[in-house]
Amino acid sequence: MISAIILAGGKGKRMGAKVSKQYIEINGKPILYYTLKKFTACQDINRIILVLPRDEIEYCIKEVLEKYSLKVDLIVEGGKERQDSVFNALEEIKNDEIVLIHDGARPFVSERIIIDGIKYAKLYGAAAPGVIPKDTIKIKDENGFSLSTPNRQDLMAIQTPQVFKFDLIKECHKKIKQDKLIVTDDTMVVEAYNNRVYLYEGDYTNIKVTTPEDLILAERLI
Ligand code: C5P
Repeated sequence: MISAIILAGGKGKRMGAKVSKQYIEINGKPILYYTLKKFTACQDINRIILVLPRDEIEYCIKEVLEKYSLKVDLIVEGGKERQDSVFNALEEIKNDEIVLIHDGARPFVSERIIIDGIKYAKLYGAAAPGVIPKDTIKIKDENGFSLSTPNRQDLMAIQTPQVFKFDLIKECHKKIKQDKLIVTDDTMVVEAYNNRVYLYEGDYTNIKVTTPEDLILAERLI
């Protein structure tokens, strides 16, 4: 079994909009519609678990799932932080082989990225797509001065889906909860316990729609 966890449990405060960012419309349809469609259309995915804030479940069923005839297998309540939302979804999975964890706010993911992720997770246990940053990236000190400049070829801006063998990600998420560590994505969860993540080629178009200027690009990309 291969499950995809689609995370839409956040409120997207950086967007500054009234509705959560996953319901903002691009070309007349909500962002989450496009994201879900990519996964429902992928033959390799056997089950889709959608994570939503408790107070948005009813709205999402009516305005996204029913309205556009999209089928998900399970809806799970989100948690306080992103990692809590992932944990809640993992609790619903018993013994799958592979789990993909994807941001609901990344509607431009391609089938190639999904399929490569599954392939590399089967090989290496953990895999994530990424792109070389377009900007020069600096490490700064606490006073705002540059400390060093890593070589751009050594850097990757990491995207989702992040793909794992189920046993590995479940065990590491359990540990990170016990150890009360805070992380921003799931690669960090497995890295915290000395597991390596294979980084493969993502796509510059696989953006996370986070701030208002991302919407301008999203309108063009659609
Ligand atoms: O906040 P950020 O942009 O990093 O969120 C990435 C994804 O995680 C989004 O799709 C968001 O809906 C989801 N998320 C979640 N539960 C939270 C916070 C964020 O599912 N508590």
